[in-house]
Amino acid sequence: MTNSSDKNNSATSFGWGINKCLRKNIQNLKPYSSARSEYAGEAMVFLDANENPFNQPYNRYPDPQQKAVKEKVATVKKMAPENIFLGNGSDEAIDLLIRAFCEPGVDNIVTIAPTYGMYQVAADVSDIEVRQVALTDDFQLDKSKVLAATSDNTKLIFLCSPNNPTGNSLNKEAMLELVSEFNGIVIVDEAYIDFAPEKTLMAELKSCPNMVILQTFSKAWGMAGLRLGMAFADTEIINVLNKIKYPYNLNVLIQEKALELLDKKDTVQKWVSLIVAEREKMKQLLVELPFVVKVYPSDANFLLVQMHDATGIYNYLVEEGIIVRDRSKINLCNSCLRITIGSPDENTTLLNALKRLI
Ligand SMILES: *Cc1c(COP(=O)(O)O)cnc(C)c1O
Repeated sequence: MTNSSDKNNSATSFGWGINKCLRKNIQNLKPYSSARSEYAGEAMVFLDANENPFNQPYNRYPDPQQKAVKEKVATVKKMAPENIFLGNGSDEAIDLLIRAFCEPGVDNIVTIAPTYGMYQVAADVSDIEVRQVALTDDFQLDKSKVLAATSDNTKLIFLCSPNNPTGNSLNKEAMLELVSEFNGIVIVDEAYIDFAPEKTLMAELKSCPNMVILQTFSKAWGMAGLRLGMAFADTEIINVLNKIKYPYNLNVLIQEKALELLDKKDTVQKWVSLIVAEREKMKQLLVELPFVVKVYPSDANFLLVQMHDATGIYNYLVEEGIIVRDRSKINLCNSCLRITIGSPDENTTLLNALKRLI
């Protein structure tokens, strides 16, 4: 069966190739060329962008290529700048991936369930079907079930590890097998990776041209208010995201502040250690409460806690001025609250409020 024409055929009809996934209009798109990307050097007088000469420095458009920030992120994350996309939160990368690769009303994505809510929302906005595949009872990835849920029109699979709201890391081998067996793009959302004993999959990117890793400065780095997220991938995918993003998606203030905060890696490491220690302490203290059924193991900065009358306890905590997340109606998270690990004082306040219920 192997004559030479079959061979040629198989080289192009099987396996990963970005143009088999990318929407035609995006392939053909001529991106907006901003004044600041046409001329990005140093000059004495800038009269190219219709800016106001007063109120410096905010009168100037930000660097659309975010060169300085990207270089610093590249150093911190040990990745080449051309393999990094920076967005207005990782939510921007999620939205752009769906818009670049999924044809509205035609294509679909596959996600695990339960998981982070933004994949569904971004897909709904773009009229993309979402196929949810339940995790196993111990919140693990069932690789064959995920593959079985895909069709020729499945362009993206979203994984999240450590997963939100379950808190556990997904099996690394299962994730990588999925990446190699699926002909579309597998996105691994590592928003909570800094709190996990598991390593990032970033080292695997070189051998996985169809994998995208998402990370964020919103959690361990304490910059949720700034809105700065990252996607790491092969240059082919990063180039697509850069081509379709708003030219000035990161404003001047974010870029300035990020440059400053990126120098504080040691502080971040201290925060992470403290939060992880608090997480383990809270886990011990929460299981002792009579209405707590189970505290799930967590590799993230939150705990998923199963309780008798979770919604009643949620409402009681609201009255006490303490807000946690009620996940009790979510499949596989029955009667669970998701509790973020706060400062030692905040955690004590929560525990004292819960103890008053005994
Ligand atoms: C919090 C979170 C994010 C962060 O999104 P940003 O837009 O970067 O703030 C991404 N993914 C998951 C799973 C999260 O829980």
